[in-house]
Amino acid sequence: MENGADGIRINPGNIRDKKRIIQIVRKAREKEIPIRIGVNSGSLDRKRYKGPLAQAMVRSALDSIKIFEKEKFYDIIVSLKASDVLTTTEAYRLMAKRCDYPLHLGITATGLPPSGIIKSAIGIGSLLLKGIGDTIRVSLTGPPQEEIRVGYEILRALGLRKGIEIIACPTCGRCEIDLIKIAQQVEKRLSRLQATSYKPQAKELKSLKPEAWSLKPATLKVAIMGCVVNGPGEAREADIGIAGGKKIGIIFRKGRVIKKVKEKDLVKALLAEIENMI
Ligand code: SF4
Repeated sequence: MENGADGIRINPGNIRDKKRIIQIVRKAREKEIPIRIGVNSGSLDRKRYKGPLAQAMVRSALDSIKIFEKEKFYDIIVSLKASDVLTTTEAYRLMAKRCDYPLHLGITATGLPPSGIIKSAIGIGSLLLKGIGDTIRVSLTGPPQEEIRVGYEILRALGLRKGIEIIACPTCGRCEIDLIKIAQQVEKRLSRLQATSYKPQAKELKSLKPEAWSLKPATLKVAIMGCVVNGPGEAREADIGIAGGKKIGIIFRKGRVIKKVKEKDLVKALLAEIENMI
């Protein structure tokens, strides 16, 4: 805090001395920065907080809140992370009934993808669907960039963030193109395009502070379909899409064919259309 941190997190399981907690709270109040009370199932004081784990985690957070409030400190965020989905979601559900402080959601130590991604998506997603949670963190045993990408995908799947969404058919006997490869190519190019498609407004450019910018990524549904026979119809809700055939592929908008192109030019032609749309 002395060195300019914008916020801190304390784990009541690691700092158990009340005097030291008060010292931290007073410093945060002086510096006007928020504190996250981050309860973690692994470091919970089980001698003090007995009984079912989710309830015990909530009691630990509530005890810390009491200390904070006694110091008239209310700039609080709470997280209650366990490494399994059911305990974590139960703890947040109980906590949401007991306090109005913002909740930071996450499942801790989820492990390697894909299981870590699935646990995070179910845990964070099911809470957000109930209207519980204010910020999220995906924890994966993997590169941190992947955590950001997964978090973004969770928010987008729930309609809480906009962006370019790719849908693709599961393929069947009619598919005559390498659909997986094409979908990967399109996703790679679009994620780059999406990152650069944001054009700040003139008044935003005057401010060098990123927080003054309002991020407005494009919203677009792009379909990659395996065959021209059923592709455009099956992906009617897509803003734009491609469907592969024998040597010739098509580009369609809202289910209507707008162009025929050579199969080898399909991805390039699709990206050119998208660039014109966003
Ligand atoms: S779009 Fe064509 S290839 Fe894809 S699942 Fe449907 S019928 Fe099969």
